[in-house]
Amino acid sequence: MIKKDQIIAQIGHPILRKKTLEVETKNIKSEEVINITTELVKIMRMFNGAGLAANQIFHNLRICVIEIKNNSRYSFLPNIPLKILINPKIFILNKKNTFNSFEGCLSVPNLRGMVKRYEEIKVDYYNEKAQHKSEIIKGFAAIVYQHEIDHLDGILFTDRVINNKSLVTYENYIKFYEKKYKESIIKNFYQ
Ligand code: ZN
Repeated sequence: MIKKDQIIAQIGHPILRKKTLEVETKNIKSEEVINITTELVKIMRMFNGAGLAANQIFHNLRICVIEIKNNSRYSFLPNIPLKILINPKIFILNKKNTFNSFEGCLSVPNLRGMVKRYEEIKVDYYNEKAQHKSEIIKGFAAIVYQHEIDHLDGILFTDRVINNKSLVTYENYIKFYEKKYKESIIKNFYQ
């Protein structure tokens, strides 16, 4: 049987700490990039991730995917349609508007921790058709974008926890924190 750490790089693997290389514009529609994108979507869905970055599956390129679709790990969240981001660049639009996000990661086994994220961002990127896009992202989706684009810069959520005491196992997150966290998301983003 293939083990998870052969498919998804786990914390401690050096590739997670490298700043990924930009995809050359002429290569966006290349077979290599198409294959990586297809693999990212497949593996993200296989492990119920909300997103996945190319360096998490051992490709040192600035590509990530995002999707929330009836996700069992994030059952309380509304759907985010599949997004493929090539060479994404992030701009924070409002530094004052932040949300404390209780995050986990497919590269960090069994751990959740509280991270401060911005609620309004702009993302410039190329899509899989090599079209340049610039989009304003607000609400919970902005948090997922920041987590994934951090990966492309070699940053893990554990680097950003606001307090080490917020680090908990997944089981204890479900047991002691999930209910309150769900309420804070609904109150902050969906009311
Ligand atoms: Zn992650």
